[in-house]
Amino acid sequence: MPWDVQADVVVVGFGAAGACAALEAAARGCDVVVLDRFCGGGATALSGGVIYAGGGTPWQRAAGVTDTPEAMFGYLGTEVGDAVSAATLREFCDGSAGMLAWLEGHGVPFEGSLCPDKTSYPSNRHYLYYSGSELSAVGVAAPAPRGHRVRGRGTSGSVLFARLALAVRRSGVRVRWQTTARTLITDGAGGVTGVECRTLRGAPAWARIAHRELHRWSAKPYVYAPKLGRLLHRPVAWLEERHGQPLRIRARSGVVLAAGGFVGNRPMMREHAPAYRGGLPLGTPGDDGSGIRLGVSAGGATAFLGRVSVWRFLSPPSALLSGVLVGRDGRRVCDESRYGAAVGAAMMAEQGGQAWLLADRATLALARRQLRGPALWFQRLQGAYLLTAARVRGPSVAAVAARAGIDPAGLTATLEAYNAAAAAGRPDPAGKPADLVRPQDQPPFSLIDCSVRPRLAYPAPMLTLGGLVVAEDTGQVRRADGTVVPGLYAAGRSAVGLCSASYVSGLSLADCVFSGRRAGRSAAVDPAAKRHL
Ligand SMILES: Cc1cc2nc3c(=O)[nH]c(=O)nc-3n(C[C@H](O)[C@H](O)[C@H](O)COP(=O)(O)OP(=O)(O)OC[C@H]3O[C@@H](n4cnc5c(N)ncnc54)[C@H](O)[C@@H]3O)c2cc1C
Repeated sequence: MPWDVQADVVVVGFGAAGACAALEAAARGCDVVVLDRFCGGGATALSGGVIYAGGGTPWQRAAGVTDTPEAMFGYLGTEVGDAVSAATLREFCDGSAGMLAWLEGHGVPFEGSLCPDKTSYPSNRHYLYYSGSELSAVGVAAPAPRGHRVRGRGTSGSVLFARLALAVRRSGVRVRWQTTARTLITDGAGGVTGVECRTLRGAPAWARIAHRELHRWSAKPYVYAPKLGRLLHRPVAWLEERHGQPLRIRARSGVVLAAGGFVGNRPMMREHAPAYRGGLPLGTPGDDGSGIRLGVSAGGATAFLGRVSVWRFLSPPSALLSGVLVGRDGRRVCDESRYGAAVGAAMMAEQGGQAWLLADRATLALARRQLRGPALWFQRLQGAYLLTAARVRGPSVAAVAARAGIDPAGLTATLEAYNAAAAAGRPDPAGKPADLVRPQDQPPFSLIDCSVRPRLAYPAPMLTLGGLVVAEDTGQVRRADGTVVPGLYAAGRSAVGLCSASYVSGLSLADCVFSGRRAGRSAAVDPAAKRHL
């Protein structure tokens, strides 16, 4: 069959990973086509735009922060685990400041305004903060704030994507909107030579406009009210079936799969992560696992598909971090000041996703006062909910435990250990930093329900972390036997990457930039020589 379009490198998916892959391939003189099922942006454009970076970036220095690649490597080693090799993590840390400079060179703005509080996301006054659990790991590595939030009001992922998209257009890359990759085309030897797509390019104007606008209007509801989002999205899929036309694109050098994760694919979630129910899908309807499935169809292996990041933020208000998080048996879940995804992971692992935060009168009063301070709307809503509707109260520890359905003896024992260590100035049993430890001994006591379940004001956002296994030096998709699929690369949440074992804020986008650039560079190298390796 003849090709409709030809290029050196074809990138499937136009989010952060796809944009970075396209930029690197274009910079090496390749003719690049990027295609996207919708109009680009994906989860990247909805995101908070926090990029995990350090080792002494200009913005850390501007904020008076000292950091080194060694300290970054030391801390990230505790988070990244076996998701990537030590050599790859080292390369990421050593190149981190340079990676931000590369983004800045493509118009992405940063700022060295350091957030004074521990927060889930800084307000519009601050763009550098502790986005992980660095302060809980001081014994491992010197802590430093490494959450670089792209400068832009609200959730600044939209600025990140807008700037990358502009750079992509300026670099001469051809972008095919409203074009879905359906099948990979392979040669007799199993090498990937192109992509079979379905496109709305030749569809009536009204169908293209309706597809674009309906998808746009369903994107935010899809994250915050998934049932409504799915309902609004149904006609979008219908338009694709009704008006889509086949399109065959040839990739002379390589195909990069950068089509996001699978949090929007319910059968895949049930198969690979059955415990993760009742959360909000942190993504778009494009996170349907199609990138991963395309790779598997060409022989690619997958890993870490059961790893899901579920976020349980207890602050703002930061006073709540001095409370004590317990499960139904009254046992402590973890250090409450750890990053929200680490708290969520501990809740899922230890208590089946159920946990309550005990706070005394003084903690509650301080939290109420803090709620009037700077915060974004969703943080204010969450804080107000936690301090009111999610809370039960009792005159004693036993009474409040009974009201919440928690084992009173277990809770009493946990609290006694916590308060005794605090009073004696001993380290907290769960390792919470000393400045956040305060005895919880002033009645009345409150228990705040932090469990993972569907709640509008206190949702549990979820993000899939696993994907296609790739060769860590090139980003080429690997088969189960360790060989690579010729001509096929993967990046971002379609691939296994730095955040596949556990996520701290900013590590997914940082990995998208890192792995997207790697895939783009590798796919671009000497197209003619690489054909059918
Ligand atoms: C509300 C929210 C806040 C977040 N905040 C942060 C944060 O601050 N920091 C951080 O690190 N992470 C954050 N994340 C996670 C992060 O945004 C994502 O993990 C990351 O953007 C994934 O990037 P990607 O390039 O892999 O995929 P995406 O950005 O999702 O891009 C994939 C693209 O592929 C397209 N596509 C899918 N299938 C096909 C197909 N078959 N054919 C053609 N196109 C296809 C999609 O339409 C989409 O545009 C957040 C996520 C959300 C939703």
